[in-house]
Amino acid sequence: MKQLGAHVSVAGGVENAPLNAHKIGAKAFALFTKNQRQWRAKPLTTAQIDGFHSAMEQYSYRAEQVLPHDSYLINLGHPEEEPRAKSLHAFIDEMERCSQLGLDRLNFHPGSHLKKISEEQSLDRVAESLNQALEQTEGITAVIENTAGQGSNLGYRFEHLAHIIEKVEDKSRIGVCFDTCHAFAAGYDLRTEAAYNSTMDAFEEIVGFHYLCGMHINDCKSAFESRVDRHHSIGEGTIGLEGFRLLMNDPRIDEIPMVLETINSDIWNQEIEMLYGMVE
Ligand SMILES: [Zn+2]
Ligand SMILES: [Zn+2]
Repeated sequence: MKQLGAHVSVAGGVENAPLNAHKIGAKAFALFTKNQRQWRAKPLTTAQIDGFHSAMEQYSYRAEQVLPHDSYLINLGHPEEEPRAKSLHAFIDEMERCSQLGLDRLNFHPGSHLKKISEEQSLDRVAESLNQALEQTEGITAVIENTAGQGSNLGYRFEHLAHIIEKVEDKSRIGVCFDTCHAFAAGYDLRTEAAYNSTMDAFEEIVGFHYLCGMHINDCKSAFESRVDRHHSIGEGTIGLEGFRLLMNDPRIDEIPMVLETINSDIWNQEIEMLYGMVE
């Protein structure tokens, strides 16, 4: 079964996310458990935690339908020790917030070498940070997202994800989120059946579908291989509908949250309906 949804608003508190997902007919959703552009956040209150649990129950969502996303400020591969430690601290805090909400995974962007160290050295720092985070927490899987490779961002090659996974000690708590726009912008074609198959075969061979814990379903405004991260509504961008039809009929992608991060939240309900309509 495909579990489709969107990255919904938590305006007024995290406890509002399940209702916001329910309103658009989502069978999955993503959320930020704190302000994604700030380092500091107040701890979740008991009222928020209880409210979230009861909303999850009321709208029939389970943990495996939810893909929380971490703050954009966190860089676990930072070349300098102090900012890396600050990132690690914030990442552990986010994992703990996910635990309090009864969730089981946390999606993050691998990080950035800032042109001060090599990609490989920075990837090693990500893995080292993850080992520390996993040791200090329980029950949450760290889900690495592939990126468009804008600027000095890591994660635009499947090999980067594999490199991190290989160096993480507890393989039972590491996973991957596949973003279609990021993959396409990074040079993984999805436009035709042949292109789709060769991209997904490479993913299977280099990373492995058993690590897939979520997807971001986005069309792309930027050109193929541009390494520019610009999302677009489904069918309006440079990937086009065929790629999403293939995705919706791929049996390797089931029982994971598939989350829209497309640019017009007013049509998320229509996009979800259209994508479900593609299932043959
Ligand atoms: Zn994404
Ligand atoms: Zn993006």
